[in-house]
Amino acid sequence: MSEKSENATEVYPLVIIGAGLSGLVAARRLVDEFHAPVTLVDKGRGVGGRLATRRIDGDRFDHGAQYFTARSPEFQRIVADWVHRGLAREWSKGFALENGKRKEDGFPRYIMDQGMTQAPKTLAEGLPIQLNMRVRSLSIGSLGWEIYFDDEQSTVWVAKSLLLTAPVPQCLEWLKAGNTRLSPIIYQRLCAIEYQPSIATMVRLKGPSLVPPPGGVWLSGEPLTWIADNTLKGIGSTQDKAPEVGRLTLHSGPQFAKKHWEDNPEEVGNKMIESGKAWMGSEVETFQTHRWKYSLAIRHDKAPFLRMDSPHPLWFAGDGFCAPRIEGAAVSGWLVAEEIARRLNFCD
Ligand SMILES: Cc1cc2nc3c(=O)[nH]c(=O)nc-3n(C[C@H](O)[C@H](O)[C@H](O)COP(=O)(O)OP(=O)(O)OC[C@H]3O[C@@H](n4cnc5c(N)ncnc54)[C@H](O)[C@@H]3O)c2cc1C
Repeated sequence: MSEKSENATEVYPLVIIGAGLSGLVAARRLVDEFHAPVTLVDKGRGVGGRLATRRIDGDRFDHGAQYFTARSPEFQRIVADWVHRGLAREWSKGFALENGKRKEDGFPRYIMDQGMTQAPKTLAEGLPIQLNMRVRSLSIGSLGWEIYFDDEQSTVWVAKSLLLTAPVPQCLEWLKAGNTRLSPIIYQRLCAIEYQPSIATMVRLKGPSLVPPPGGVWLSGEPLTWIADNTLKGIGSTQDKAPEVGRLTLHSGPQFAKKHWEDNPEEVGNKMIESGKAWMGSEVETFQTHRWKYSLAIRHDKAPFLRMDSPHPLWFAGDGFCAPRIEGAAVSGWLVAEEIARRLNFCD
């Protein structure tokens, strides 16, 4: 897929930075429908980004995104395929509120049968993806976009065309580090996109929890926004005859996350467990925490993606565009793929 430049730098026709949902949906469509020569790169050990499932000794916790809607025709098609293949299923049309009452709005929320990472893993099958490579800076050179990585070998790639799908503030940091100037209009629109942080605490209980079926509670927002019981969700264990104990995911609100970002993780976890004690029902056996600097996009750009025109095109996509959340990320990826194919003449 790549060629070597004179100074032994790898040169790629089209690179996608980020193998989260938007990058993978874009790559899948570009490869399957337009036969485009795509290469993905991600800093993670695995694919998926914020669609994340953690395994702890046979227990399984969705600790990033919890469920997704499918209201747009583009995403409905993808989800229908997952449901048909037994990979995804409807979880519920609503959940309990803090006061114990149930709120339903008629829209199905879907989950992946083996945890949320199953979605990106399915999409990633057969795609050329380089993992464990953290982008540090981006600058424009004579052959294309120069991508500098944070590794001991100081690896550099050149991309003739480039799609960025990481949270927008991160993309802006890379461009700034590479002294790359964007057009003022694009720059302003990108700077207006905003995300909020969250802290997740994953708790294994010694007995069942008090979270009501089907396993989720929408909370007021601070200090907690959400509690899920992964056991009731049906993904809580990798073993057949696992004990029916609570395996909870607690999500903090943005204020709590900002206030306790630098605190000792054990203290943070204990505070979150104390805040959610009405739903515990059993003693805590173990817990872990995870910090999400970018969880939900609270201000997004209404366009499905942005493009910067230059001799070497640069696109921005992901959940900062189109609509926030999983569905928005997927639709953004789907639509940017078509635009890239058209612009780079892969459509013929
Ligand atoms: C705690 C939490 C709860 C959420 N709950 C829900 C929910 O219930 N429902 C819902 O619809 N959405 C939810 N979301 C939001 C949803 O997860 C995202 O909108 C969606 O996954 C975004 O996908 P994406 O591809 O745009 O971005 P990402 O998933 O963030 O993908 C970007 C990729 O870029 C990679 N990357 C970043 N920096 C670098 C670098 N320097 N070098 C190389 N690669 C890099 C990352 O590793 C990542 O894989 C939640 C998110 C969080 C964190």
